[in-house]
Amino acid sequence: MASVLSVDVGVATHIGRVREVNEDAFFAGQRVFAVADGMGGHAAGDVASRTALQVLGELDTAHISQEALRVQIRRANDAVVNYGLSHREAAGLGTTIAGIALLQAASPPHWAVFSVGDSRVYLLDHGVFRQLTIDHSEVEELVADGVISRSEARHHPSRHIITRAIGEQPAPALDVMLIPAMLGQRWLITSDGLTSELDDGQIARHLDPGTPAKVAATHLVEVALAAGGRDNVAVIVIDVLDAEEAPDADVGPTRPRSLQVEGAS
Ligand code: MG
Repeated sequence: MASVLSVDVGVATHIGRVREVNEDAFFAGQRVFAVADGMGGHAAGDVASRTALQVLGELDTAHISQEALRVQIRRANDAVVNYGLSHREAAGLGTTIAGIALLQAASPPHWAVFSVGDSRVYLLDHGVFRQLTIDHSEVEELVADGVISRSEARHHPSRHIITRAIGEQPAPALDVMLIPAMLGQRWLITSDGLTSELDDGQIARHLDPGTPAKVAATHLVEVALAAGGRDNVAVIVIDVLDAEEAPDADVGPTRPRSLQVEGAS
């Protein structure tokens, strides 16, 4: 039976307790959702994250295919590179990017899960919580090589060093994986301001599926701050709902967005 999916989206970001600039940013459109964690001297990191998401956001109203996603990420990379070339004080700026985009013309509909850097996409589905992206970071390589454990990685001195970023030349490889869009999915897109404060088990416990997306996103940021707030944090929570169970758009802080997706069971 065809049905129409909708999403309920919650977003939250905070500068944290230590940093002087929030270089994290998010984009939450109708079909494209992403977090970016910028870096660079002279406060250029916030320019990098916002620039990359602004360019990526153009995809939200275009025809979304895997190829279109890759092209748009390359354009985002070009935009950040060009900013660095024309603003010498911003040389070396870059940003992570991680998110999900609903592919059109896919049957059944699929999310493209994408990332560059160490921002992450997680999926909570039927009670199973898992990280779908792989960090492009020095500590992830050490974990993969068995040199350090996953819990040691969260406190390792090199934990913030990423091995791929938007803003590099040549353009970094984009990881993309496809996941069918299903009712009941709860997606979490987050910068490392959350994942360096909480381990996956703690995040899962605070991602209570009984709460609206907006409440869950705000709660996760509050928990990251309570745990130390040593970095900027940005979080998007996306619930995939049947269109008829979406909250009323006129009430409360949550905004249901009809995806007009036919064919989901
Ligand atoms: Mg960060």
